[in-house]
Amino acid sequence: MNVADSEVVASILTETGYTITDTIEEAGLILINTCSIRENAETRVLNRLNTIGSIKRKRPGTIVGIIGCMAERLKEQLIETEKVVDIVVGPDAYRELPNLINGAEEGHKAVNVLLSREETYADISPVRMDKNGVTSFVSIMRGCNNMCAYCVVPYVRGAERSRNPESIVKEVKELLNKGYREVTLIGQNVDSYNWVGGEKHVHFPELLGNIASINPLLRVRFSTSHPKDISDALLHTMAGYDNICKHIHLPAQSGSSRILRLMNREYTREWYMDRVSAIRRIIPDCAISTDMIAGFCTETEEDHLQTLSLMEWAGFDFAYMFRYSERPGTKAARKYRDDVADEIKTRRLNEIIALQNRLSARSKRFDIGKVHLVLAEGTSKKSSDHLFGRNSQNKVVVFPKGNSVKGDYVKVLVEKSTSATLIGKVI
Ligand code: SAH
Ligand code: SF4
Repeated sequence: MNVADSEVVASILTETGYTITDTIEEAGLILINTCSIRENAETRVLNRLNTIGSIKRKRPGTIVGIIGCMAERLKEQLIETEKVVDIVVGPDAYRELPNLINGAEEGHKAVNVLLSREETYADISPVRMDKNGVTSFVSIMRGCNNMCAYCVVPYVRGAERSRNPESIVKEVKELLNKGYREVTLIGQNVDSYNWVGGEKHVHFPELLGNIASINPLLRVRFSTSHPKDISDALLHTMAGYDNICKHIHLPAQSGSSRILRLMNREYTREWYMDRVSAIRRIIPDCAISTDMIAGFCTETEEDHLQTLSLMEWAGFDFAYMFRYSERPGTKAARKYRDDVADEIKTRRLNEIIALQNRLSARSKRFDIGKVHLVLAEGTSKKSSDHLFGRNSQNKVVVFPKGNSVKGDYVKVLVEKSTSATLIGKVI
């Protein structure tokens, strides 16, 4: 999400004459795009501001801005407490950046954190910062209308809006023409994508099918699916196109229906299991990954064991796992006590991680001896004689370069695996 936003910001500023530098000491303008989802993300930004403070002391004219979710959450307070900060700009106000920067150059510190019901930056063609030239994110919606009790996103990114599908198709075609071979359509809850134009409604399965039809050489991924909204229609669309990658990120958050209710996730353990069964039935070779939160308010040992048993049952291929971190202003912060002791949260998180390590290793063992179609993304970090890429299931595969170059589709016979990677040879 933040990469896509940084690319929109880069586009707005390059239009105004700015250029991007790789060297922070050379920059006349430093913008930090921030995330507020967990407390430690914010702490890292505050620490970073100390380093930036010393750069600014050496180059006093440097303008420093905080943009994104933390700007939205802390507003004026950031300018008051962090002397180094000149401008604070929320996620729906990026078009105002050139004006705010001009003002800051004349000595006016400024804050713009207005949230919008319409802004999707649909007409802005993002300047790609990922640089591999093969894979890219494409934002299809902004904001979120769910109210998960632990989550700050609806407060800092505003209400859900779907982007005009024509502008999405146009952006994807431009990427394809520039040589890109994979797009990941992103939104907080892609299953609730719903664009209304006059009489016409476009839902996510239709959008996904339209994007996949552009060119069979273009791989399509998407994230994130919400278990309460993921439909069989979407699964059938995925099954119908070889170039829609067979991977679904389906955050469970907890395996206990009681905790899910407190989290306001609007599904139960049984509902989640039904959705996983539907995926297995309709797309048998689909990888499933998840997010889990350890130690949400009132979580008991029994709730935690239910999380572990759901993970075991689903056999997730991959997971992002977090300790619950209370976020100011959320329903959980207002109504519940953050009552699971730190050491218990940590112990439960460690158990979740240990189990997932086993499940991920098992999932990779199943891949050994099979041929995978891999889209080469670049040279392996560990060896310049090897390329890396991902298979349809989103697993990283490393293989000897041979005659292949990045952007190629390569058939790789997987021979072994490490904890994070499949290793094989080209056939
Ligand atoms: N829209 C996505 C997730 C967005 S946030 C969804 O609904 O699944 C990414 C992940 O951060 C969440 O899935 C959740 O696991 C985690 N997260 C969000 N708020 C959190 C908090 N307060 N403490 C710990 N983890 C949190
Ligand atoms: Fe947060 Fe829930 Fe929205 Fe995801 S769906 S962004 S977890 S409120």
